[in-house]
Amino acid sequence: MQTIRGFRDILPEHISLWQKVEREAFALFESFGFKEIRIPVLEKTDLFARSIGETTDIVEKEMYTFADRKGGHLTLRPEATASICRSYIQHKMYATDPLRKFYMTGPMFRRERPQKGRYRQFYQIDAEVFGVESAYIDAELIFLLNELFKRLGLTGLTAHVNSLGCPECRPSFQRALLDFLGEKKEALCENCTRRIQKNPLRILDCKVETCQRALQGAPATIDHLCPACDDHFAIVRTTLKKQGVEFMVDKSLVRGLDYYTRTAWEIKTTTLGAQSAVAGGGRYDGLVKELGGPATPAIGFAIGFDRLVEVMEQLEIASPPPPLDLFIIALGDAAREQAYHWSCQLNQRGIRTEVDFREKSLKSLMKRADKLNAAHVLIAGENELKKNQLILRNMETKNQTSLSIDTLVPELLKILKS
Ligand code: AMP
Repeated sequence: MQTIRGFRDILPEHISLWQKVEREAFALFESFGFKEIRIPVLEKTDLFARSIGETTDIVEKEMYTFADRKGGHLTLRPEATASICRSYIQHKMYATDPLRKFYMTGPMFRRERPQKGRYRQFYQIDAEVFGVESAYIDAELIFLLNELFKRLGLTGLTAHVNSLGCPECRPSFQRALLDFLGEKKEALCENCTRRIQKNPLRILDCKVETCQRALQGAPATIDHLCPACDDHFAIVRTTLKKQGVEFMVDKSLVRGLDYYTRTAWEIKTTTLGAQSAVAGGGRYDGLVKELGGPATPAIGFAIGFDRLVEVMEQLEIASPPPPLDLFIIALGDAAREQAYHWSCQLNQRGIRTEVDFREKSLKSLMKRADKLNAAHVLIAGENELKKNQLILRNMETKNQTSLSIDTLVPELLKILKS
């Protein structure tokens, strides 16, 4: 039996970087006032179709959707924002305190063509803020990502920032885009030809090369912003500059989801080839209302967890697991029984101890202690038990200490904790 295409196991020998990222990210989010939220992996299909947009690649081609036994359609979540909005509305969080900051991590599912950095089950770390229109929150989220990546030791990243405007400025931009596309219709792919009518903005995000070539010189949202969006974006830029966060304004950045308004950004890396975005985010001021809640400004980002770990591996950022404090070599049934109780007591008190309960020779158990990189080895053979004296060996200095069985655990705690 094998995993299905685009799905993979993350094995224990690779997990320490994942855990390091989680530790750093969650600690940072908590200190910025974010609270963890956990949401289901499965939702009604309609939630994603309505929020991400019917004409996006995700909804048109990539969702894992199936008919439920009772008729309705269910989808494995392709992203987290829609579900968090659903939760915000369902639990009427806006009524008690509209200002909410959430974070979460978990698997997302998109039926894309698998390759390095792109999987069908992948993980995201997500942060969302509800209830604040101020541009300082936009800056704060980009600052936060920058800070996290700095703490993780990442280099070679660039923040691409753009403003997509609001319903106020969209019509003027769409007119300019349609005028521009008028002469290019022949060059567009089938999908984009269809999208001209339904959702012309999506064409800007098309990955087909002929479309990309045809779009050179296309109008940019940033040149059609209304005064309010223009001011909003100016504050984001000046704030980031004051904080020393490096970024570039990227007029061509549109993101692959329909709900974005105003600030949108992506953090790109040079280390992963074609899959260059390690994180993406933006404002979605209209989404809560669109999904049936009260008008609520909101903004968030998602980090591609798999890609982030791949960048860290490329940069040789390591997070070695903590070493084994003690390996007990127990020879014979009586020693194994005692060793079992000692190791439980030590593990209980935070000393990483292992015993190998298989019937093996002293030599092969010594080899295992080496393999596990144990800092100390305790030898409990029949002779040692008889004499009531065990030998503790420091594997680095090779020093040996003799310990009495009567006071063994407290003595070991003293030595190993220091
Ligand atoms: P999005 O939700 O499309 O804005 O994606 C946010 C981030 O998730 C991207 O910048 C990627 O790092 C990551 N991501 C998106 N799709 C995939 C995928 N199929 N495999 C791995 N990572 C992905």
